[in-house]
Amino acid sequence: MSSSLRGRSVVVTGGSKGIGKGIARVFAGAGAKVAIIARHADRAEAAARELGGIGIAGDVTDLSSLEGAMAEAARHHGGLDVLCANAGIFPPAKLEEMTGEQWDEVIDTNLKGTFLSVKAALPYLKKSDQGRIVITSSITGPITGYPGWTHYGATKAGQLGFMRTACIELAKYGITVNAVMPGNIVTEGLAGMGEEYQRTMAASVPLKRLGSVEDIGHAALYFASKEAGYVTGQTIIVDGGQILPESLEALAQA
Ligand code: NAP
Repeated sequence: MSSSLRGRSVVVTGGSKGIGKGIARVFAGAGAKVAIIARHADRAEAAARELGGIGIAGDVTDLSSLEGAMAEAARHHGGLDVLCANAGIFPPAKLEEMTGEQWDEVIDTNLKGTFLSVKAALPYLKKSDQGRIVITSSITGPITGYPGWTHYGATKAGQLGFMRTACIELAKYGITVNAVMPGNIVTEGLAGMGEEYQRTMAASVPLKRLGSVEDIGHAALYFASKEAGYVTGQTIIVDGGQILPESLEALAQA
């Protein structure tokens, strides 16, 4: 599977840290040429340096910024084969207190940002013989809920609705569109919440651990592979079985 990514040009939005950096690391490990797009150029460049790729400043809420970033990635790496539309934010706000501006910020980044990233990458993906789009969704929204995340959950479910029509429209170019749905993944942000917090969260997962960013990277790598060429419009849940127990009792019984 990994050999089909050797020499391929991959863009990861939000690849300067967290899940995006894990995705970028797994693709770089498979021999892909990786470009990381994030708003803070210095952080994108630092992450890219670590992985042997390039870092580019870009904001997924801004089409012209994305067009410039995709053009730079394509110029530097001789085209573009894979877009990992991963950038996302999750500032919590309870429904009763949430302002329209807070709602818009999350929708603009996570949902419209996915659309704009695809739009900007499309001219290059169309020229690839292995065009792939891999979206980072979540279990939160499509399957589960969490207080403070009505806006976030709406974007993560919305990405899947977007995907199910985009995959039909783009099939004529041989481009596949799929999504990874992570559960609770250890990122720099979560690690900062302390070990006790992570232990409590891990206790609700059948596999008794939180996910790693590489767990998500490997799922993304599968969707991007040559071997997954007949798989489109699909999701894969990577959550250690978190969504499955009917109750805490069901976990305790095991
Ligand atoms: P993170 O650690 O906070 O990293 C977010 C990344 O996105 C950073 O590189 C950030 O860089 C970039 N970013 C944010 N806004 C951007 C914008 N407007 N334009 C371009 N880049 C932007 O987040 P994460 O936890 O890894 O989450 C990544 C994705 O995974 C999100 O889509 C999230 O919904 C999903 N997810 C995460 C979890 C989890 O447990 N962590 C679970 C399920 C799904 P800059 O700030 O420099 O722009």
